[in-house]
Amino acid sequence: MTKSDISDIKQLLSKPKQIVVVPHKNPDGDAIGSSLAMYHYLIAKGHDVSVIAPNDYPEFLKWIPGESDIIIFESNVKAAKDLIDKAELIFTLDFNALHRTGDMEIPLVEAKATKILIDHHQQPDNYAKYIYSDVTICSTCQMVYHFLEMLDDKPSIDSKIATCLYVGIMTDTGSFRFASTTATTHRVIADLIDKGAANADIHSSVYDNNSHDRLQLLGVALNNLRVVPELHTAYISLSQRELNKHNFTKGDTEGIVNYGLSIKGVKFAAIFIEHKQEGIIKISLRSKDNFDVNEFAREHFDGGGHINASGGRSNHSLSETITKFVSILPQYSKALKE
Ligand code: 5GP
Ligand code: MN
Repeated sequence: MTKSDISDIKQLLSKPKQIVVVPHKNPDGDAIGSSLAMYHYLIAKGHDVSVIAPNDYPEFLKWIPGESDIIIFESNVKAAKDLIDKAELIFTLDFNALHRTGDMEIPLVEAKATKILIDHHQQPDNYAKYIYSDVTICSTCQMVYHFLEMLDDKPSIDSKIATCLYVGIMTDTGSFRFASTTATTHRVIADLIDKGAANADIHSSVYDNNSHDRLQLLGVALNNLRVVPELHTAYISLSQRELNKHNFTKGDTEGIVNYGLSIKGVKFAAIFIEHKQEGIIKISLRSKDNFDVNEFAREHFDGGGHINASGGRSNHSLSETITKFVSILPQYSKALKE
């Protein structure tokens, strides 16, 4: 973001505007946290703001300040489309291409509003007038903090904004343990705590709300875990039948893929989750060091993301998808053995 972009945006925000804030489909803690932080900031500046999420988000995020004001596009298509049509400004947060919003893509493409993209995923599309993209930053929430800093408006960060930003930084860094966590991340977090983010309570609200079913599903997943030791790879599968047996709800499988990476020597981990209704297998990929799972997901599974965390999909059956995955691995033998 250039100095002139920042001065344009300051100008744009200097008078009350109709604004829409959009996270990606299947929003996670960073998408919801950054969207709600922006929401609180813009409301306090006198704007008329709506957060429109493409679809629902996990239960463990249903306590974040302002979350009950989020409009779910999928279940309010008409009202949401009207808001998008009327908007003068649209913030798109935590995604790099409009198709990542699912059915909101067309209304967003057709919207007349000035678009501002803030995101940390690789290779952003060029759909926004103002683009703040930085793939080295751990989370969009940290970027929103820096964005407010660039607007010379850090004093406006109140406890609600601090709480929202803390959530996304915490969830996208695996509680500050991934390589993307920097000294700057910790300085930002320290400032957010000073501004009222109740760190221990936030951690507890997000992570200490497991159901018995969720832990049993985790047990099934760990039981299904397979290791390919010579290629330093581990993968997990969950069938629709297994999900149903444990009354799966959104968010229940979040983070399970990381167990594969926790095995000594494993550098590449995957999880394959069957979604019968959509007719797809949803894939999450994680890696250590410089094994590039963004590239892997783009090349083989119609997806993308970051170097160490990406996702994609397959239209084949669960077992065919796993067979394909295992058969591709040897092509990466050199990188996996490095
Ligand atoms: P997760 O595995 O947690 O769903 O996603 C990991 C990362 O990959 C996230 O940053 C997410 O935005 C990205 N990602 C997940 N699924 C897809 C996909 O289908 N396409 C693209 N381009 N990125 C994805
Ligand atoms: Mn993110």
